[in-house]
Order: sequence, then structure tokens, then C-alpha cells
Amino acid sequence: MTVHVVGGGLVGPLMAVYLAQKGFDVELYERRPDMRRADIPAGRSINLAVTARGLKALEEVGLREDVMKIAIPMKGRMIHNVEGKTSFLPYGQKEDEVIYAASRGLLNKVLLEAAGQCGNVKMTFDKTFTAEDLAALEDAPVIAADGAWSVVRKHMLENVHNFDYSQSFQTYGYKELVIPSDAQGGFRMEKNALHIWPCKQHMLIALPNTDGSFTVTLFYPYDGFEKLKTPEDVLAFFKRDFPDAVALMPALADDFFANPTGALVTIKCAPWNDGNRVLIGDAAHAIVPFFAQGMNSGFEDCALLNSLIGKTPDWAQVFADFSRKRKADADAIADMAIENFHEMRAGVTDPKFALKKQVGFALEQRWPEKFIPRYSMVIFHPEIPYAEAKRRGVVQSEILEKLCANINAPEELDWQQAEKLLA
Ligand SMILES: Cc1cc2nc3c(=O)[nH]c(=O)nc-3n(C[C@H](O)[C@H](O)[C@H](O)COP(=O)(O)OP(=O)(O)OC[C@H]3O[C@@H](n4cnc5c(N)ncnc54)[C@H](O)[C@@H]3O)c2cc1C
Repeated sequence: MTVHVVGGGLVGPLMAVYLAQKGFDVELYERRPDMRRADIPAGRSINLAVTARGLKALEEVGLREDVMKIAIPMKGRMIHNVEGKTSFLPYGQKEDEVIYAASRGLLNKVLLEAAGQCGNVKMTFDKTFTAEDLAALEDAPVIAADGAWSVVRKHMLENVHNFDYSQSFQTYGYKELVIPSDAQGGFRMEKNALHIWPCKQHMLIALPNTDGSFTVTLFYPYDGFEKLKTPEDVLAFFKRDFPDAVALMPALADDFFANPTGALVTIKCAPWNDGNRVLIGDAAHAIVPFFAQGMNSGFEDCALLNSLIGKTPDWAQVFADFSRKRKADADAIADMAIENFHEMRAGVTDPKFALKKQVGFALEQRWPEKFIPRYSMVIFHPEIPYAEAKRRGVVQSEILEKLCANINAPEELDWQQAEKLLA
């Protein structure tokens, strides 16, 4: 039996490996050249954060160690204020509660190589899959991992009765820049952190790369981008809002005008299945990157789908079950990702933010069965579905608000009040 996978980005090859390990023959189609051979850009964002949900799936197929070799642990957020002073906010409180920065290109290569080594995966590159190709496959199972602008989803939109679809763009775009390594190839800032320069309405972030550089991303409203017309405008803006970063970016103005401004979109649709076809990854649910879960949730899709395949010989039933089980979680992480944008660019500057984080950790330490901070549930606890994390997060946020209303340090926490609120 041959299963067809459309898209050789991050999610498609992982799905192909799962299928191959189950014994299916797989045909994968990718419109770009073969990244294993050609040095081509991997698309959006030069590096990204891999977290526990993604790692769990990678582990299941035996690829976790390969990814760890190209990854840099980030233990928390390094917040830079407008005077250039930094403060560090850990992501978690246990040794293994870290997230990992990895190059998108290297990650994509690891996944394609793994698929290629399976023996039963045939990959066709430079092949733009079309609606005609889909029709030609008739009833063969097709798993579409062809990204946010999926051709298979477009086909469903046009042909499936009552197909729900929405796309919503942020009023913000993003631009990638670079902090190069120092003359010795070393890092010019703390290596094991995700750096953030929050500015209420906009922000800059930086993730480390294994070559000593940082990929820097500016998230900025489109009407702001339009006002930055000359190198002088750009330098003045960066010097005002990100003074310590600008000192580390010798090619800032050149990069700013050479690099494109990317868009941030949330796409929701339902159902994800149509007979023997199903959407996964960004094709099913594109989300904004502020919880670093787009790829991670796509990897989780692969794990769930894999767990359902084989339960019945009826692929249409498998795909319908997958769509039904997963949709609420995809919607939940899409919404939480948008909320987290506010937290990253403005929330972190609120003095109560650090206090709430510390109180949240204190509650987790004392009552781990009752309280796990929302960030930790999403990032470090794959066993808690996104929808459940979202639901618990709403309740917890109210509890933290009450507990922190009249205190200035975690030592002042009223434990009796906390116990009552958590009961
Ligand atoms: C700025 C930014 C930062 C991000 N950071 C993170 C992060 O830190 N952590 C995280 O988990 N996620 C992050 N994401 C999200 C992540 O990039 C996506 O969720 C992920 O790439 C989705 O993988 P995918 O395989 O579903 O889609 P894609 O990676 O888009 O891959 C789709 C593939 O399908 C191919 N394709 C498309 N159409 C066709 C066709 N008709 N025929 C054949 N091939 C086709 C494309 O060439 C591509 O290779 C970020 C996104 C952005 C924009």
C-alpha cells in the first residue's frame, strides 16, 4: 500500500518516516529542490525553537539525538531594557525545562535524510503537486503537509460541502536580521537564552545559531515599517529602542533593506479530512510564532495520526478520527499563540510579570498535581493537550492575579489563600 505525502518541509518528512516505519511505501512530493544536495534557503525563519511536543515525536521515530546535535538549549528569556540592562527569566524550574534553538535548514535536512534512509520512501523534488495530481491518485491515501498555502486545502475549500475556512493576518510583519559571531566565532551575547527587547507595541528577539551568530527578528506594525525609509531612519529607530542590539549589528541597515518583510497569519479550517485525504501541520492550522508551536504542533499531529493509523483499515475513518480529535487543540494553540505576543512584547515589562512567574513556580513546587504554569504546560508537558492547557490557564491566571494583587515578593505569598483558591 502506498501513502502519498505532499510537502517536504518540516512536517511532511517526519510523517513519511512514521509511515515508513509502519511498513507502508511512501511517495513524497516537494516543489523545492532537494535540500540535502542544494544549498537553498529553507523558507521562513532561519532558526526556530524545538520544544517537548516536537521532541517527543522525534524521539518516537528515533530522531531526537540527531536533532539535539544541531540544537542549542535556551534556558529562559533574557530581557533587554531600553538602557541595555538585562534580566533573565527562566522558562521552567527543572533541569530539563529548556527549549532548543535549531536551524530550519539543518532540521529539514535531518528529516529528509531520515526519510531517504528508510528505503521505502520515494521523494520527488522540484515537483509542484496540483489538483490534477490529487485527482489522478483517486482513492489512494494522501496526507497533505504542504504548508500554510496548501493546494490540497484549496481543493477542499472549493469542493467539500460546508468546508469552514478563515485566515487572519496580524497588523504586524516580521523582518529577519543578524548578530554575527565575534572574530573568534564566539557568541556576542549569552548563548543559552532567547533574547527579547520588548517595546510594548513591538519587539525584537534573537535566537542563537551553532556558528556563534544570532538570528534576530523584528516584529513591527506594517505602518511602522513603511516609515523606515532610509538607513538613517533604521539606525535611529534601533538606537532608540534596542541600543545594545544595534551595537552588535554591523550590517543592520543593509540587512534591513535587503531582507523581505514576512507576514503573520492564523489559518483555521474544518474538517481537515475529505475521504482518503487529510491535512496536517500548517496546511491544517497555520499559527503565529509567539508560542514557538507551529512546527511542534505539526510534529504532534504526525504522532497522533500515526497512533490512529492501523486501528481500522479504512483510511477515511482514520483521517476523520484524527481531524475530530485534534481540531480543538489546534484552535487552542492558535489562540494562545496570539495572546503570547502581547506577553512577549509588553507583559514581560510589567513588574508583576516576574512576580507572577515566581509565584507560579512556587505553587507548582508545592502542589505539582494542582498547578503547572500555562507556559510550562504548553512547552514542557506534551501529555497535557493544548485545549486543556488553555482551559486551566484561564483559571490559573485569575488565581495568580488574586495572589499577587497585594504582594511585591514571592515570600509574601499567603499560602492559606493559595490553598483555598486551588481547592
Ligand atoms: C517567523 C517564524 C518563526 C517561527 N518559529 C517557530 C518556532 O520557533 N517553533 C515552531 O514550532 N514553529 C515556528 N514557526 C512555525 C513553523 O515554521 C511552521 O509551523 C512549520 O514550518 C510548519 O511545517 P509544515 O511542514 O506544515 O509547513 P512548511 O514548513 O511550510 O512546509 C511545507 C512544504 O510544502 C512544500 N509545498 C507547498 N506547496 C506545495 C505543492 N503544491 N507541491 C509540493 N510541495 C509543496 C513547500 O515547499 C514546503 O517545503 C515559525 C514560523 C515563522 C513564520
